[in-house]
Amino acid sequence: MADSQQRFDVLVIGAGPAGMAAAVRAAEFGVRVGIVDDNPTCGGQIWRGSEVEHGQEAMRWSEQVRNADVSKLYGMRVFHQPEAGVLLAEGRDDLCELRYTSLVLATGARERFLPFPGWTLPNVMGAGGLQAMVKSGLPIRGKRVVVAGTGPLLLAVAAYLRKMGAEIPMICEQAPWSRLARFGIGLLAYREKITQAWQLKKQLAGIPFAANCWPLTAHGGSAVESVTISRNGKTEVIPCDYLACGFHLVPNVELQSLLGCKVSDGYVQVDDLQQTSVKGLFCAGEPTGIGGVELALIEGQIAGLAAVGQATGARKLFDERRKARRFARMLDRTFRLRPELRDLPSAETIVCRCEDVVHSRLREHRSWRAAKLQTRCGMGPCQGRVCGPATQFLFQWNPDSVRPPVFPVRVESLSKVVS
Ligand SMILES: Cc1cc2nc3c(=O)[nH]c(=O)nc-3n(C[C@H](O)[C@H](O)[C@H](O)COP(=O)(O)OP(=O)(O)OC[C@H]3O[C@@H](n4cnc5c(N)ncnc54)[C@H](O)[C@@H]3O)c2cc1C
Repeated sequence: MADSQQRFDVLVIGAGPAGMAAAVRAAEFGVRVGIVDDNPTCGGQIWRGSEVEHGQEAMRWSEQVRNADVSKLYGMRVFHQPEAGVLLAEGRDDLCELRYTSLVLATGARERFLPFPGWTLPNVMGAGGLQAMVKSGLPIRGKRVVVAGTGPLLLAVAAYLRKMGAEIPMICEQAPWSRLARFGIGLLAYREKITQAWQLKKQLAGIPFAANCWPLTAHGGSAVESVTISRNGKTEVIPCDYLACGFHLVPNVELQSLLGCKVSDGYVQVDDLQQTSVKGLFCAGEPTGIGGVELALIEGQIAGLAAVGQATGARKLFDERRKARRFARMLDRTFRLRPELRDLPSAETIVCRCEDVVHSRLREHRSWRAAKLQTRCGMGPCQGRVCGPATQFLFQWNPDSVRPPVFPVRVESLSKVVS
């Protein structure tokens, strides 16, 4: 049995921009609203840490969440649905049962990692992961950080690290110039994005940016010391203290799958009001499409309004959402992974780093399930969150059904679930 129970008319899982917007809008209608996040504060991936540092919009939404009549359940992670309308969340030292009438799932996304020789060396990190560590106090001043992979996150991370005193020898983007040029032209339809792009250009002035470029091997002893990259078909070695590497984002859809929501091509399927295939369950933000903070805020508001039956108010945001979704499709087209990246791992490259499963062992299998059963790939602490998307790209394997707990939890919490 859980240590405590709470009941809400609208429960929001995830306090990133999408969840914050959903909770604020729903709370305007006098219903009981709760918001859960496994971080100690709201803000999600983009507004993590000091809200002042993230600008006006972050401050405005954070203030609205603070002032809204919403129960804030931060530092709690939802991991199981024991019955319809009930979720279990684990806190630092307790287990909470959360009952809801409507649910908004705003669980965000994570970075996609691809294995290549040397990617498990210390100081080879996710680009967003390194940014988060620097925000939490990791000293980066004077360190040489090569930023590599794909997607706009690389630019945001490089700009942040430079601001914090890092030296960026190169940004390596796997997408070809032709796609980046089309993306640039497409941006002209988005005034606010042009402003952001212009600011980034200024912040990154003087840093070499290479398209058609990706990491081949990270070298080093106790930590990374250099990286060999492929650039326009030629190889180069760049000395570095860190390699910040991410291949765009993968939506977090495990909880939605557990709850029976239809997921297709990796994204949760929603109707116009952000309702999933399960009645009363809404989804907003990155799980429905990787579209950035603007789309997350619009979808969050629509989901929050729809969850309290305010369809008319929600419809007023449809035009804005249509435009933001066009941008999401542009991101998808531009930063699609090139097939050459499938050849990055050698036979000995570890693909599942929790269970030390190497590439040659995986390629003997035909499905994710078979590989899991025979090699334990995806059965370690990350539960396939890192190697799942990698094997999906490398071998076109599709993940099987999701089983609880969707996150690793304490044995004590599990024992309370079954007692
Ligand atoms: C590592 C990383 C760094 C990023 N950095 C930037 C950046 O610098 N600039 C930029 O423009 N964009 C950045 N992005 C993209 C940015 O996150 C999105 O554009 C936008 O914030 C998406 O908002 P969201 O609300 O959909 O998701 P998120 O902001 O990801 O919020 C989802 C929240 O849900 C929580 N959560 C998920 N599952 C559970 C659960 N079961 N129980 C409890 N809580 C849960 C997560 O911890 C998270 O706090 C980053 C993305 C990632 C993955």
